[in-house]
Amino acid sequence: MNAKMNSIQPLDPQAVRPDFPVLARQVHGKPLIYLDSANTGQKPLAVIHAMDRFLRESNANVARAVHQLGEEATSAYEGARDKLAEFMGANHRDELVFTSGTTHAINLVAYSFAMPRLEPGDTILVTQMEHHANIVPWQLACERTGATLKVAPITESGELIVDKFIDLLTPDVKLAAFTHVSNVLGTINPVRALARACRKHGIPSLIDGSQAAPHLPLDVKAIGCDFYVITGHKMAGPTGTGVLWARKEHLQSMPPFFGGGDMIRKVSFSGTTYADPPHKFEAGTPNICGFVGLGAAVDYLSSLGMARIEATEHALLEYATAALQQVPGLRIFGQAAHKAAVISFLIDGTQSHDLATMLDLQGVAVRSGHHCAHPLMDFYGVPATARASLAFYNTREEIDRFVEAIEKVRGMLA
Ligand code: PLP
Repeated sequence: MNAKMNSIQPLDPQAVRPDFPVLARQVHGKPLIYLDSANTGQKPLAVIHAMDRFLRESNANVARAVHQLGEEATSAYEGARDKLAEFMGANHRDELVFTSGTTHAINLVAYSFAMPRLEPGDTILVTQMEHHANIVPWQLACERTGATLKVAPITESGELIVDKFIDLLTPDVKLAAFTHVSNVLGTINPVRALARACRKHGIPSLIDGSQAAPHLPLDVKAIGCDFYVITGHKMAGPTGTGVLWARKEHLQSMPPFFGGGDMIRKVSFSGTTYADPPHKFEAGTPNICGFVGLGAAVDYLSSLGMARIEATEHALLEYATAALQQVPGLRIFGQAAHKAAVISFLIDGTQSHDLATMLDLQGVAVRSGHHCAHPLMDFYGVPATARASLAFYNTREEIDRFVEAIEKVRGMLA
């Protein structure tokens, strides 16, 4: 833990746990221990109530009705954009495009920004630790334009080799796309330095912030990237919500991705003109209630304080890592110096799916699989890992019970 985090008073999990009703339930007759927050985060009452209230009292379509409910719905939906702009450190609310999640946001950039700029011989730079959502859209763009992907390597401990990344920033690179925090390794990449290096070489950068937004204070201005994407369901919000933040000049130069209602200025059969960003990229009826929920999620996280969330989770990570390191035959994937609270692991002589299934019977929810990161699994030469991902609502007692459950299951599977 660094000195700054050390000076921050961690959250009291017993004070925040009642905010998350699902944490009180039992699974297979055992109290639930939810260690799968990197997959999707649990939802606080503030979000559940905001969505419930919206649907009961203000449900209407946005941007087209002049009646009272329509105005309330529009103001709740656009109000969420203000909240998210502040949460992300944007200069202006119009820099935020609402999407269905990170996957949608990255595809939007791949189709509307990258594809028109790519030619045979060009490249897109990604890293070895990307989620498929930050690989496949670029591969599709490459297939259609004759461009190719370049991959920045990582070390065995799961850190990006920054010098190699910078060496790869050659004139053929038309965009660099990298994750802020790895969903498998927990590695926190030095995104400011990476974005600065990209800028120096005149290369636009896109940062996948899916695993950062729920856990760290964000400031897209200070990071200095060109695009930053987040997904609502991992940050206490509902599924089907996400944000593409982009520099205004990019949004202005990019053609629309989807066409339809709400993204136009004037439609005629001889031609159509488009609304200004961000609405140019928000065709059709959006996930209004979802964004009301995401706005409430951002209020909730901000009320706890992102720096406190970060410090709380870091202390839990250190506690859990030390405990897991005592388990014979347990190997942790991802030992970066700067890590978020994600622990991928395997135990000698066991399959990760068997382990996760048996842990579930003990009430412990962990993920098992390739975590949508086949190239990273290939790098480590394994088909899958088990993954425990922690959040500020987890407790040390839960970690103790998790480790006890692992010991028990290990004995049964051996
Ligand atoms: N990027 C990372 C690092 C992720 O962890 C995930 C989800 O697991 C995604 C992208 C995709 O997010 P979504 O499925 O919400 O679009």
